[in-house]
Amino acid sequence: MAELLTGASGDWEMVIGLEVHAQINCEAKLFSGAPTTFGAEPNTQVSLVDAAMPGMLPVLNEAAVREAVRTGLALNAQINRRSIFARKNYFYPDLPFGYQITQYEAPIVGEGEIEIDLPDGEVKRIGIERLHLEQDAGKSIHDQHPTKSYIDLNRAGVPLMEIVSRPDMRSSAEAGAYVEKLRAILRFVESCDGNMQEGSLRVDANVSVRRPGDELGTRCEIKNVNSIRFLKLAIEYEARRQIEIIEEGGTIDQETRLFDPNRGETRSMRSKEDAHDYRYFPDPDLLPLDLDDAFIEDLRTSLPELPDHRKQRLVGDYGLSPYDAGILVGEKETTDYFETVAAGRDAKLAANWVTSDLFGRLNKSGIAISESPVSAEAMGGLIDLLAEGTISGRIAKDVFDNMFETGKDAAAIIEEKGLKQISDTGELETIIAAVIERGSNQVKQFRGGNEKVLGWFVGQVMKETQGKANPQTVNEILRRKLAEKT
Ligand code: ADP
Ligand code: MG
Repeated sequence: MAELLTGASGDWEMVIGLEVHAQINCEAKLFSGAPTTFGAEPNTQVSLVDAAMPGMLPVLNEAAVREAVRTGLALNAQINRRSIFARKNYFYPDLPFGYQITQYEAPIVGEGEIEIDLPDGEVKRIGIERLHLEQDAGKSIHDQHPTKSYIDLNRAGVPLMEIVSRPDMRSSAEAGAYVEKLRAILRFVESCDGNMQEGSLRVDANVSVRRPGDELGTRCEIKNVNSIRFLKLAIEYEARRQIEIIEEGGTIDQETRLFDPNRGETRSMRSKEDAHDYRYFPDPDLLPLDLDDAFIEDLRTSLPELPDHRKQRLVGDYGLSPYDAGILVGEKETTDYFETVAAGRDAKLAANWVTSDLFGRLNKSGIAISESPVSAEAMGGLIDLLAEGTISGRIAKDVFDNMFETGKDAAAIIEEKGLKQISDTGELETIIAAVIERGSNQVKQFRGGNEKVLGWFVGQVMKETQGKANPQTVNEILRRKLAEKT
């Protein structure tokens, strides 16, 4: 999907590389025992280490190391036996140390790759350059007081994985698919909850443009985008902005920019620092991190099933199209939900109900699948009643809406509202006889060879029965009766 942008002077290609900060799902900070719970009262989760009190020493959290290695394995990446923590020096009020502890020259995870699923069914490989461990900074709060800024250090020292891609993406759609896939992997592995609104997953987008086939252009980095929709909008805007500048004879300054969702534009925040501005050096308070093979192998063998494998299994075991399977494995809960619904049932039917009806309602009401008012078991029950012919396909949609609103199961709603499909031939024969009686014109037309009028009869019967008539039975009786000589 080499999507080109058309400028005033010809075609341009956009080049995108993403840096994702993923907060590690673990109880304590990277170098202290303070808790990491989201949303706590400001400055209540701060140890003396996090506040950078003199004489405090960092102690590495082993749980965070495990999660980084597990994630690296899930990204098919090189796990480095030795990695080194470094100090990245800069001044900011929410960084009491005056430096961030991160990994620079020797990250814990090296090269890997992930496969992204594009809307046209194409699968593309995106290279991962590295994954390193680092601590988060605190938060500066500027909007609570007219003249003061507040500092909340709860986030200071929270363990992060920074996952850096190669500049392998060529459209905003690819960038979106990359973040979706990465987030799915993190959630399957459970090393990060992937919640972009709460900031557990933050994306920096590096964007440049070039003539197809040219060398890489100068990039701008758009910081901290917090939704996939904004990410795509920011990339589109930024590529257009750069093309316009170059076409007017200007050059791109390498800089850090912010996306303003209200205006739909990016604007300059600061000119880009170079690595040497940070005066990186190995942290003398921390030993190099050495991992042994047994530790890594142990984590490798205990990894859960990953999205790509699960997708293949959905295609193989349930006969789903790769596209449907790809949608389902976007989230672990969704796949679990689907597999519960599909067990022992028509998988294609189950996939349709889950991906169109259920997802449609969940998206519209902004509810997560884990909170769905229709459980997987209840959804299965509805499909059973449909498959048995107790209700018609049209009625099933109404029943589903009702289930979603009330949380009741399908059988209860059908009983309560008297929605059972009428397959009883006696009852249908009477209704059909009356319809034929009324439609003498239509009967003539039908007998004159106009097959299409049959639809009129079916419609009348459905009207009489409020859609509850079994369409197949209606068709059979109609054809038989209309063929009879009167
Ligand atoms: P830094 O850490 O200073 O931001 P890196 O060299 O680690 O710099 O690159 C950061 C990201 O920028 C990577 O994801 C990489 O893929 C991406 N990148 C590098 N060059 C370009 C470019 N010319 N256009 C778009 N993205 C790029
Ligand atoms: Mg960067």
